[in-house]
Amino acid sequence: MISPRLYTLPPLGLYTGLGESQTSFLSRLAEAHSVSVGTLIGKVIAPILGKTYLTNSSEAGGSGFYGNGFELNGFGIVSEDFARVLSKLTGCNTLRNLSLLPLHDILTNRGTLRQTKAWCPMCFEEWKSSNKDIYEPLLWSIKAVNICRTHGITLKTQCPQCEKEIPMLSRKSRNGFCSFCGCWLGSTELELDRETTVGQASLDYFIAKNIEELLEMKDNPGFRPSVEEMYIFLKAIIDKAGGRVAFSKKFNVPLTTARYWYEGRHIPFLRTFLEICYMVGIDIREIFGVNKIDLNSASYDNVYILPEKHIKVSLVKRSYDWNIIENILRSFISNDDTTYPSVHEVAMKIGCDKKLLYRHFPNLCKEIAKKHSAFVHAQKIKRIDEGCQRINEVIKVLYDSGIYPSRRKIESLLPPNILLREKAYQKAWKESIRNSGLTNQGE
Ligand SMILES: [Zn+2]
Ligand SMILES: [Zn+2]
Repeated sequence: MISPRLYTLPPLGLYTGLGESQTSFLSRLAEAHSVSVGTLIGKVIAPILGKTYLTNSSEAGGSGFYGNGFELNGFGIVSEDFARVLSKLTGCNTLRNLSLLPLHDILTNRGTLRQTKAWCPMCFEEWKSSNKDIYEPLLWSIKAVNICRTHGITLKTQCPQCEKEIPMLSRKSRNGFCSFCGCWLGSTELELDRETTVGQASLDYFIAKNIEELLEMKDNPGFRPSVEEMYIFLKAIIDKAGGRVAFSKKFNVPLTTARYWYEGRHIPFLRTFLEICYMVGIDIREIFGVNKIDLNSASYDNVYILPEKHIKVSLVKRSYDWNIIENILRSFISNDDTTYPSVHEVAMKIGCDKKLLYRHFPNLCKEIAKKHSAFVHAQKIKRIDEGCQRINEVIKVLYDSGIYPSRRKIESLLPPNILLREKAYQKAWKESIRNSGLTNQGE
């Protein structure tokens, strides 16, 4: 019999975009207590939860609950119930982040989650050989994600030995292993079929990157994206494309669907939504995150919608219309927006290789690069100015409360990206100490 108080097991990978899923956490928790997932759920969790969906399934020995085990990673009642009970049992209070609960407002009930596992064999193998814990990121349980960006390969969905698809959760689940035949799912680059390699300019790469960003943002307690933000974006893009009919044609979306989106009555599947972002060259952070752009203001005019012909080209096959690309490049140079992308970013937006762009348009590319580096420089100055200001504010607060502003003390009150190691900040700190007439008491 297991004690109803479980080990405190911190979730892996939070704040990285590769945070652990709730099904993975359950498997690790069972393993840490040397029991199977079936025993952990049947003997510990089910009695506390007291939900019929669980007790029926464990008593009857049926697999009704396990058949829908993937829902633990979603945003419904089941994932909510488990997050609550597991938090109580383990004392961890970040377990809602193991599922899509924080993103429920912008996701569709159907079509978001995978029912069976997908994994990157190289990630598993690397973690194993460096003695890291083997876990399964929530990212891999999202249907729209097909690739691992770290290794540039397609995710696997079938056991290499028994060739079965592996359920997201089962009584015998173990991270990194097939729950049917027990086969290890990791493998090295050499063993893999390299045809599955994915390029950085591809749609799949863009989608995986944006979902990683979304998952990373969701671990931040202040981040709660709303469906309103999604509708504002869709409406702006539909208007920009020339109305619902034109949008429907250009983006290959049924007219009724376009109307529902426009009127704020339906939200798109995550993958469809990101395909639109890819076509118009907007990153998910610009819609929900810290880099949010105001789609209703003038800056929205700089959103560049690729011409219809080009959308098809960039999504289907690689042959380029150089006249169109030249126009796109010129639009990046002539825009008087406040942000200037790098040639690399422009190439990503167009879906074309950076070297190819340089070869065809050396002067335009150089001009883009020049604007970008001036932009980066200005951003850096702005960041440092703001940082120094924050440092001075913190020092003042410390003085006022009679606390010596040591490096550690100041850093503990600043956002994590402001470190006094940086020269400019160090200068601001020392100047402020000098001005106050205090002597340096060490760091
Ligand atoms: Zn990988
Ligand atoms: Zn197998």
